[in-house]
Amino acid sequence: MRIIVAKDAGYCFGVRDAVNTAFDTINQHGEVYMLGDIVHNEKVVADLARAGAKVVEEVDEIPSDSPVLFRAHGTVGSTWEKANSAGLKIIDATCPLVHEIHSEVKKLSIDGRQIIIVGDHGHDEVIGIASQVDNAIVVANPTEAKELKKMKRAGIVCQSTQIIDNVQEIINILMTKVFDLHFVNTICFPTKRNQEQIRQLAKECDVMLIIGSFTSANSKRLTQLSLEINPRSYQVTTLDDVDIKWFNNARTVGISAGASTPDYIIEDVKNKLSTLKDTK
Ligand code: SF4
Repeated sequence: MRIIVAKDAGYCFGVRDAVNTAFDTINQHGEVYMLGDIVHNEKVVADLARAGAKVVEEVDEIPSDSPVLFRAHGTVGSTWEKANSAGLKIIDATCPLVHEIHSEVKKLSIDGRQIIIVGDHGHDEVIGIASQVDNAIVVANPTEAKELKKMKRAGIVCQSTQIIDNVQEIINILMTKVFDLHFVNTICFPTKRNQEQIRQLAKECDVMLIIGSFTSANSKRLTQLSLEINPRSYQVTTLDDVDIKWFNNARTVGISAGASTPDYIIEDVKNKLSTLKDTK
């Protein structure tokens, strides 16, 4: 059985940098606080907790002078203000590509446009983008786009991990509703690259595995993308979820992973499949 791991499967540079920064901060200060989990991956969260990371809900739960790490997908403006006035040591691990979305959305708003964000309701990155401007509208799918009223001027951005097909479908609908529409494609390049590689592998391989937590919208979206091309696509969180029956009569298996999946989990799964190859 041939096993092909997508070239850029797993951690994107934004998440990799944030996780490394968290471990570096623990080495330096003995601890680091975070407002919520650093990534949607239970293993990484557990590894960091063992090392000394503390996850809290609110800024006022953090003792003053303590280091607080702002996560890769961005932090709302009011939290920055609170952390500054509480005298916390802020370590900003916001991905530069998320900072870029914040800057684009502000420019569109200054241009007098109603801001529309294509993304998941309640996702931290989307909340962070919306907090940069007043009255942003979040649209998650074509059905919600159809419900919008007609408007004169709108500026549209998207959550960095959106699937381009969903965004395109929504833009097509919005074009019938907005007279003067300005769309900035803010899907980040690691996401585009990952999606492209999955599309290709799903066509070429008998079976596809997408490794990622079921709490990660990004991993679930990638699985959906793979399933649309190859019905023998499966999502697993770790090696424990892999069922060898999936590989009956399979000659090629493609592996990819969400942006919050660490390298060692991908390696584990790949090694397990290599063993299967030997026993066939
Ligand atoms: S998914 Fe893209 S925008 Fe988000 S952290 Fe990774 S590289 Fe940055």
